Amino acid sequence: MSLEKGSLSIHSENIFPIIKKWLYSDHDIFVRELISNASDAITKLQKLVMINEAQIEENPDYKITVTLDEEAKTLTFSDNGIGMTAEEIKKYINQIAFSGAEDFIKNYKDKSDKDQIIGHFGLGFYSAFMVSSDVEIHTRSYLPDAEPVNWKCDGGTTFEMTEGTRESRGTDIILHITDDGKDFLKEYEVKQTIKKYCSFMPVEIFFDIVGKEPLKDADGNLLPPEPLNETKPLYTKQPSECTDEDYKSFYQSTFNDFKEPLFWIHLNMDYPFNLKGILYFPRLNTEFDRIEGQIKLYNSQVFVADNIKEVIPEFLLLLKGVIDCPDLPLNVSRSFLQNDGFVKKISSYITKKVADKLNALYKTERETYEGFWDDINPFIKFGALKDEKFYENVEKSFIYKTIEDTYVTLSEYLEKAPDKKVYYATDTVQQAQYISLFKSQEMNAVILDHPIDSAFISLIESKNEDVKFERVDADVSEALRNNSSLTEEEQKTLTEKLTDFFKKALDLEAITLRLENMKSENLSSMIVLSEESRRMQDMMKMYSMPGMN
Ligand code: ADP
Ligand code: MG
Repeated sequence: MSLEKGSLSIHSENIFPIIKKWLYSDHDIFVRELISNASDAITKLQKLVMINEAQIEENPDYKITVTLDEEAKTLTFSDNGIGMTAEEIKKYINQIAFSGAEDFIKNYKDKSDKDQIIGHFGLGFYSAFMVSSDVEIHTRSYLPDAEPVNWKCDGGTTFEMTEGTRESRGTDIILHITDDGKDFLKEYEVKQTIKKYCSFMPVEIFFDIVGKEPLKDADGNLLPPEPLNETKPLYTKQPSECTDEDYKSFYQSTFNDFKEPLFWIHLNMDYPFNLKGILYFPRLNTEFDRIEGQIKLYNSQVFVADNIKEVIPEFLLLLKGVIDCPDLPLNVSRSFLQNDGFVKKISSYITKKVADKLNALYKTERETYEGFWDDINPFIKFGALKDEKFYENVEKSFIYKTIEDTYVTLSEYLEKAPDKKVYYATDTVQQAQYISLFKSQEMNAVILDHPIDSAFISLIESKNEDVKFERVDADVSEALRNNSSLTEEEQKTLTEKLTDFFKKALDLEAITLRLENMKSENLSSMIVLSEESRRMQDMMKMYSMPGMN
């Protein structure tokens, strides 16, 4: 039986400090929120013009300007978008957490698509108070008879609305920066933050400093201001419109990496979810033999974060790329993302695309693929170890570099192997003697010299029951033995003598020595360590490393 029903009430004096302090972990996010709102204001106006519900000037020069006034300690975000009437300020600004963006999408959902409207939760505007004491809005709606309005709030729970001063359509958001936010009174800091979050925003963004001389060329002519962003980043285009040069220069400017990428994958899908992006396979950083990836995640051309493990499978974080997914609920917590089925679908779609690209290269451009192999193999092996699905998808495209400087698949190798074992070298210098023995007998071995390879070998063995890997120095291969010319008696005496000799020389209690006659003229003796013992030793070494147990 219910005693009473009603709505919960929220006291803004309690909720406000929470928004200011806890809503966003990064201080600089207010830049993203205010520029997103400005961009939304322009997108909305464009949509109204398109469906003939707004009459404005011909060819409007839509833009966002961020102005720094060091003396007045203000940062102003201006746009010439839709603006607000007094009624709209009351509805969208004075009611915290009432999203005008959602409202707009609801009202116009049949008439225009919702892409590109960024706002969602109706909280972004208040992030301004993370760095400001007072915030002012000067705005004028696009409606022909609209009166301008000014609004002001000192971060407490009251506001003041007065007759407005703005002469043209659009909005200025003026932040009076506090001591806490004083970093944002520095040109460099503001520009960097705009570039971080807004590099691909769909409206041009300009930066201005009050009192700063405009730039001039050598003849004293004014230079036109340059926007800080790229309004149509390459990934938003159709793959057929993009050249190799475009991809390379996008890579360089986005990642500040002047090594050319090896190849790339342009993701572009509308159904069943919206996702665009470009993934690049970078060259290995040869100095450290390491891949240093970076995946930048965007939501409708607004930067959200780097390397979000919940959305991008861990091994793909070794690549470099941008991914834009407007459907992702990015303002919600990471633990939610982890358990979200939709996010899982995105992640498996991306993984599948990467596997498809590798398989296609392997099948149609094997030589090119072999050329990339040294750089990309740690990545592929890591992926195969981390993700069963990925392993299954790319299994047929694994190749191995050999001591003959060729690249072979496992089955190509086994076709020519005399005893169905895969011989491998982990260090071509240290094991040079064994390798030359192999070569002298025209036997092949593969080179597996990356730290990831021991795990990879175990993976391949566990997936292929009849395949055994053996290091070149693990034993004297059957194929390398000759029948001995010594009698049994002679063999025995010689073995005993040598055993004694080694026991003394090495100061060991027990030692097993075997006399073999090998098919090599320039090799007098060989120390071998069986594959199992060596793997055991490697494992012990690993466990005795600090931090491993
Ligand atoms: P959201 O963007 O999620 O809707 P915000 O708190 O960022 O929430 O903004 C609230 C509302 O205020 C917006 O939806 C919009 O209606 C209005 N608004 C904010 N900034 C502007 C602006 N520059 N021009 C026009 N309207 C704005
Ligand atoms: Mg917003």
